[in-house]
Amino acid sequence: MAEMDQIRIKRLEVFARHGVLPKENTLGQKFLISADLYCDTRTAGKTDDLKDSVNYAEVSERIKESAQEKVFSLIERLAEYVAEKILIAYPQVDKIRLEIEKPWAPVQLPLETVSVRITREWNTAYLSLGSNMGDREQYLKDAIALLEEERTNVTAVSDFIETEPVGYTKQAPFLNAAVALRTLRSPEELLELSASIEAKLGRERVMHWGPRTIDLDIVLYGERIIQTEALTIPHIEMAKRLFVLEPLAQIAPYAVHPAFHKTILELRDALLP
Ligand code: ATP
Ligand code: CA
Ligand code: CA
Repeated sequence: MAEMDQIRIKRLEVFARHGVLPKENTLGQKFLISADLYCDTRTAGKTDDLKDSVNYAEVSERIKESAQEKVFSLIERLAEYVAEKILIAYPQVDKIRLEIEKPWAPVQLPLETVSVRITREWNTAYLSLGSNMGDREQYLKDAIALLEEERTNVTAVSDFIETEPVGYTKQAPFLNAAVALRTLRSPEELLELSASIEAKLGRERVMHWGPRTIDLDIVLYGERIIQTEALTIPHIEMAKRLFVLEPLAQIAPYAVHPAFHKTILELRDALLP
């Protein structure tokens, strides 16, 4: 894939008070902030109109403001904070690479600068939703509305489809859906959001695979493969579940399972009789 277009801001000087030493927090010092903003500049490249681009004067001002807004001990924290502010303020920016240099870092050895460089980006994730208690449609709608927040946008929603329960089959039929997200949350942070939505909507864990007001599972997170105690991504059962693949195929037919190297359509078709 060709490298994405970038707008680059190099070594913006910002005076701020970040540091571990009390002296740094009172006297302050100079920080140099560089940012590569990954965004499509093609439209602006054709129209020659600033409103089609990311205004770098404005971005620079915003970087300076957010870097001076708080006092942090670490430039790691500062970088995280500034990167997120810019990604939220400029939705056209898909990814930012941010470097913060501290040329006056209090190190008693000859060195030029100390710096931290991070890359943060909007990620695409897919969730599978299911409900088989009460007003199922309303639970799905409420869950989808609650997914929308500063760091997460819902970018696509499938139809709601009715499915028969699998596993424990002596329970009411499910209404299932899939949603696509654009999110700054890490997979773990996305699981936290899902769990908080489940709790808010009255999910009680009585029996595994039992009836529930709402269940939110992370099916895919970009091309990541994750295996921790709390999280398995892609969802371990997804390739066996038509109730996951059917709605997902509507919104992401060509998304690829990063371990099986098959598209959602291929996985779905393999389950069809
Ligand atoms: P299943 O996971 O088979 O669909 P379930 O959704 O009924 O079953 P839950 O009781 O909702 O299971 O979840 C149990 C645990 O699964 C959660 O606490 C969570 O830590 C873990 N988990 C692992 N991988 C994922 C994932 N990809 N999405 C959501 N939860 C996950
Ligand atoms: Ca589930
Ligand atoms: Ca679950």
